[in-house]
Amino acid sequence: MSHAVLAHLRETLAERFGKNKTEELCRLIYEIARREENEPLNILTLALEGSALEQIRFTTLKQTLLKRRFPNLAPEDLKRTYLAPLHLPSESEQIPSMRELFKPTAIFIEKRAKHYPLAGRVMNAWPEVEMVEIEAIDELRRPKKDWMKDFGKRTLAISVEPFDLVKPCPCSTSTVSCNYYLLNIGYGCPYDCTYCYLQAYQNLPAIVLPANLEEFLAHMDQKLELKPGQFTRIGTGEYADSLALDWLTEYSKILVPHFKDKAVTLELKTKSDCIENLLNLDHGGRTVIAWSVNPERFCNEEKKTAAVQERLRAAKRCEEAGYGTAFHFDPLILAEGCEKDYERLVEMLFDHVNESIRWISLGALRFHKDLRRAAEYRHPESQIFLGEGRLDPLDEKMRYTADSRIRLYREMVRQIQRYRQNTPIYLCMESPEVWRSVFEGKPYQGKIDQWIACGSS
Ligand code: SF4
Repeated sequence: MSHAVLAHLRETLAERFGKNKTEELCRLIYEIARREENEPLNILTLALEGSALEQIRFTTLKQTLLKRRFPNLAPEDLKRTYLAPLHLPSESEQIPSMRELFKPTAIFIEKRAKHYPLAGRVMNAWPEVEMVEIEAIDELRRPKKDWMKDFGKRTLAISVEPFDLVKPCPCSTSTVSCNYYLLNIGYGCPYDCTYCYLQAYQNLPAIVLPANLEEFLAHMDQKLELKPGQFTRIGTGEYADSLALDWLTEYSKILVPHFKDKAVTLELKTKSDCIENLLNLDHGGRTVIAWSVNPERFCNEEKKTAAVQERLRAAKRCEEAGYGTAFHFDPLILAEGCEKDYERLVEMLFDHVNESIRWISLGALRFHKDLRRAAEYRHPESQIFLGEGRLDPLDEKMRYTADSRIRLYREMVRQIQRYRQNTPIYLCMESPEVWRSVFEGKPYQGKIDQWIACGSS
């Protein structure tokens, strides 16, 4: 959609309604135009329903546009839509292609990290890129607007991290907790998913890789409080993809053997097919390799990641190497005809793996309202923010309505159980009410760890 057209629309509306109301109308018209593949000015003309712009009231025009943009939302949900101001990149600010192979354009290293093996590996991988020494990672901080476009995805920073890398998963207060621990090895990701929450959260223009993982793990063993008989998972995929850069970091070679005799299940979560390092490791059955998966039609929303077929082929090889596997249908994206795509994806999944599957999670698209602005600026072509989401007052996240989520979850559960009835399936970041509606008739006490451990779904 051209900037000139949007600028003209904005100017036309501003003369009549002033700045703030114009922003709301522009947002609605822009999204309708994209959903319906129509021109913004046509959408405005249709919404005027024969009235002149000078005569129509703002509330009338807004209501007409709201109903067209969200045809399935109830009136009370229409009041909770979030109409953020439009902030799109100009033609001269288009995002550079992210489909090239990963190669940093800048490398920084904390002086104290220089003697760790990771420093040597990075230097050998890109001898032509200067490695700049810094005292501390904080020196890289600068205003976010200066690095919004490439988001530091071509800058590596090697650090010595303090020992506070394990945290309980911060589930929203209104959702069912998953008793999951996060092991934060690294921050930032070479992939570029349109919905990635790091875009709202990340405050450093670099992919930060800790050099001192072994020291950290020794410290973590003393700190992690494990309750006897409790099924505990710990995962590294919160602020980074667990395996995308494993060919460089070789973290898996440290992590997997470390956890092989611990009373914890390590989950390495990825959208990659970087599994070569894993195949000959002694994992003791304690590591589960997990993939986030989505149908091929959404591949443009997960830029630079391995294609879903490649991920599933990698899963099969991990199954053959004796690992447990897990799959996250997350985010589930609602779009016309998506049920068929997800049905096909479930079929593909079970064509590749079956017995190794330890759990499957389902999570409908949700995102903090601040993410939308950053994501829209960086990925103006993305389709996924055009779904019918509305603001959930409990945690300020945009979600599809509970009814649509429940319908989608039930269908996914049905599809998965066609292939394996006792697959442990859980919902990510959902309320107890949604859980009960999806798994109706099943005893559920609000404990995801027990749910998975018993294979209860
Ligand atoms: S793989 Fe995960 S961390 Fe990386 S960009 Fe995608 S959502 Fe973000």
